[in-house]
Amino acid sequence: MLPPESSFATIDDVLAGMRQRGGRATPARRLLLGVLFRDRQHRSAEDLAGEVQALAPDVNISTIYRNLEEFVRLGVVDRVYFGGGPATYHLSSGRHGHLVCDSCGGVTEVPDEVFVELADALAVRYGFIADRHQFAVAGLCADCR
Ligand SMILES: [Zn+2]
Ligand SMILES: [Zn+2]
Repeated sequence: MLPPESSFATIDDVLAGMRQRGGRATPARRLLLGVLFRDRQHRSAEDLAGEVQALAPDVNISTIYRNLEEFVRLGVVDRVYFGGGPATYHLSSGRHGHLVCDSCGGVTEVPDEVFVELADALAVRYGFIADRHQFAVAGLCADCR
């Protein structure tokens, strides 16, 4: 069982949660969490590694990947795939879906209720359980139309 998302308000909350599960609060984890908390954009592991390495050049990208996996497992971070692109990561926030612009790559977060009806229809008609958070609609944003 994962704690509710709201239990991770600060970096120290996350690290405390990790310690309870036998994880260690390493300097690399602290840095990565700092980068995630500072900016809520949906970023790839490489983007995040670049930002961490700007602060601590000795942190290896494999460490970043491993820590992201751990954060996803703990429910601290959400992983979302857009189209064929790399996985993106952001701090777990309220449930939401994503609109992804094919032209500028911009991501708009949409409250979950927008997708509830669609998800219900998919479940009823196809027996398909949509993962509404990982759900991304491709198209053109208002600026690029
Ligand atoms: Zn656009
Ligand atoms: Zn998102």
